[in-house]
Amino acid sequence: MRLTIVEYPNKKLREISKEVKVFDAKLHSLLDSMYPIMIDTNGIGLAAIQVAHPIKALILNIPDEEGEQPKENLLELINPVITQQDGETVYQEGCLSVPKFYEDIKRSETLTLNYQDRDGNTQTLEADGLLAIAIQHEMDHLVGILFIDKLSYARRKKFEKEYKRMLKERKSS
Ligand SMILES: [Zn+2]
Repeated sequence: MRLTIVEYPNKKLREISKEVKVFDAKLHSLLDSMYPIMIDTNGIGLAAIQVAHPIKALILNIPDEEGEQPKENLLELINPVITQQDGETVYQEGCLSVPKFYEDIKRSETLTLNYQDRDGNTQTLEADGLLAIAIQHEMDHLVGILFIDKLSYARRKKFEKEYKRMLKERKSS
């Protein structure tokens, strides 16, 4: 499956993703095609809507202590639901759909999650650190929310200006 990353301000990113009900070869093929895109673009997480498939599916691969992302650490979360969250943490986030832009974003520090794996089996996951942050970031994508939506008015204004300039420079080069 050939996929390309949808970038802001494409309105596709505002779509609400639908629950996955069929765990078939088509879903597996989508997940398998998302993985190399995420790795090639140095991402740690990617939601299906970011490759124009509005379904509740996302993948994550948090770098280990050596900064490597071996495939055995790949997490595939289908229909994720956060059942518990606690604490507060701030991390400088980026997004494959908002390239070259990073901002401090406040998130819950720990969370518990129910989800289904690629075969439809229900799983539970407890997360903290960067994994918990990335899960919240990717789950926001499933409801059409981007991390830049969480910026203050002034920082958002600054972002829009800088992002527009970046897009213009990219077009002309
Ligand atoms: Zn993102």
